[in-house]
Amino acid sequence: MLQVQDGQCGLCVHFGEKQANDVQLIQIRLKHEAPEKLVVPCGLPEHEKLNLMVTPISGCQAFQAAPQA
Ligand code: SF4
Repeated sequence: MLQVQDGQCGLCVHFGEKQANDVQLIQIRLKHEAPEKLVVPCGLPEHEKLNLMVTPISGCQAFQAAPQA
């Protein structure tokens, strides 16, 4: 498992935004841990049109903290 820090994709509201209720994504937000091979689409509109895929420990300056479950 990967440790996900504040400011990294796994804790961003845009991480897998189209599947926001996915149990796995909710677990990542709760535990700050993610599977090492997980890659999901970024839902930020500018990134989505580029089909940007990110890992839980990726990041960018558009980070916006996801609400805690
Ligand atoms: S790439 Fe940026 S906007 Fe997309 S999930 Fe990661 S931190 Fe959020």
